[in-house]
Amino acid sequence: MDLAKQPIHDLQERLRRNEISPLDIVNDVLEHIEAQEETLNAYIDVFAEEARRRAVELEDVPPDERGLLFGIPIAVKDNIVVKGFDTTCGSRILLGFKSPYNATVIERLLQHHGIVLGKTNLDEFAMGSSGEYSFFGPTRNPHNPDFVPGGSSSGSAAAVASGEAVAALGSDTGGSVRLPAAYTHTVGFKPTYGRLSRYGLVAFASSLDQIGFLTRDVLDAALLFEALGGHDPLDSTSLNLPAPRVTEVFPPDWERQRFTLGVPVEYLETEGLDPEIRLHFQRYLEQLEREGFRLREIHLPHSRYAVQVYYLVATAEASSNLARYDGVRYGFRAEGYADLDEMYRKTRSEGFGPEVKRRILLGTFALSSGYHEEYYNRALRVRRLIQKDFQQAFETVDLIVTPTAPTFPPRLGEKRRDPLAMYLLDIFTVSANLAGIPAISVPGGFGGPHRLPFGLQFMAPAFEDARVFQIARWFERFVYPGR
Ligand code: GLN
Repeated sequence: MDLAKQPIHDLQERLRRNEISPLDIVNDVLEHIEAQEETLNAYIDVFAEEARRRAVELEDVPPDERGLLFGIPIAVKDNIVVKGFDTTCGSRILLGFKSPYNATVIERLLQHHGIVLGKTNLDEFAMGSSGEYSFFGPTRNPHNPDFVPGGSSSGSAAAVASGEAVAALGSDTGGSVRLPAAYTHTVGFKPTYGRLSRYGLVAFASSLDQIGFLTRDVLDAALLFEALGGHDPLDSTSLNLPAPRVTEVFPPDWERQRFTLGVPVEYLETEGLDPEIRLHFQRYLEQLEREGFRLREIHLPHSRYAVQVYYLVATAEASSNLARYDGVRYGFRAEGYADLDEMYRKTRSEGFGPEVKRRILLGTFALSSGYHEEYYNRALRVRRLIQKDFQQAFETVDLIVTPTAPTFPPRLGEKRRDPLAMYLLDIFTVSANLAGIPAISVPGGFGGPHRLPFGLQFMAPAFEDARVFQIARWFERFVYPGR
């Protein structure tokens, strides 16, 4: 029985009926890891023994006290801290750093009787779109190992897609949960900014970062949100707003709801949008219309600047957030230096990879005196305009629908040496972070010359996370009846 490939809610049903135990699930997932990890490289660290021990301990929890994630092995992106274990962020510079505390999402996961299975691979400090910029080597796409799984939550996506985890935590600053979800045929959800605590998420770009989920289906994402979401006094950006319960998101008549969906014309005019992706997308739009959803063309005129604005804001914030890795407080320190300055310089030169250095340089430049106004402040003003575009669009539509990515997954190595081409993979995802709104990627099927996955993205106004789940669940059941 392939337990590792079943959604959380099905496993829980079987746990309730005592057909299986948490240890059965953990063992099955560990077998999948054993069989595929050499190819996929989805994990930086697997907590096999700890996970087994925890699964056995959980058997003592009385049935009526079981939490929402009881017995479910969940993988954690290695930029989220788990007490007593290393956190590397996929970087050399953190080698040897052990987390002294748990992220709030980990605390809640444990309170709900979930099992932390291990730490997943990622682009260094979550900077990247392909999963190739990790100190620990690239992750590969389970659907075809010659192709990338998308990034930066590459390992989380590959693990869920391959049965190396039942669900996974990721982080999404400009699409890092949604893009790999689209590339691996999994669901990727990023909540409204502030609805999921970031306490214990290593900061990349603080005005954009959100923790998100990679799951087998939309119901699982809603379940994780109920379990892990809600206010956290330890995170100053956390909203005082509980996450909706699954029963509130899916009340008895939810499927009858017919939303008005906005289709941004600018997105479909994007240069570099694969013609086959466009075709699949348009076919889905026609089907949605036939099913009673209203479609409306909308305009997001400033979206053509979204990638530029994102790469200014994100690099500026990153250059400041990454200043703390100086060889004194965390992890790695270079050897053979004459004085403090040289120690800093050597540590940072040897500790960071090329993409992270590129970002620090770009961000430092954008913030430097004389250029601050011209680059950083101007980017902030355009960000405001992008937010306004969305506000205006949401006056006439309930949701916005787009392809998640402009292309099918690239081949390993294809974009690695061309940072601009890499940045353009984020063209449809970065706006949701700039605007702080909830967004999800749902599998659309397979296509292209190599039959690889692609996804559809739905975005809603801030705080309407429940609406995102509703349309996404409706859509996944339409595409895959029986889910
Ligand atoms: N690909 C984008 C970047 O490289 C987004 C990364 C992310 O969301 N963490 O910055």
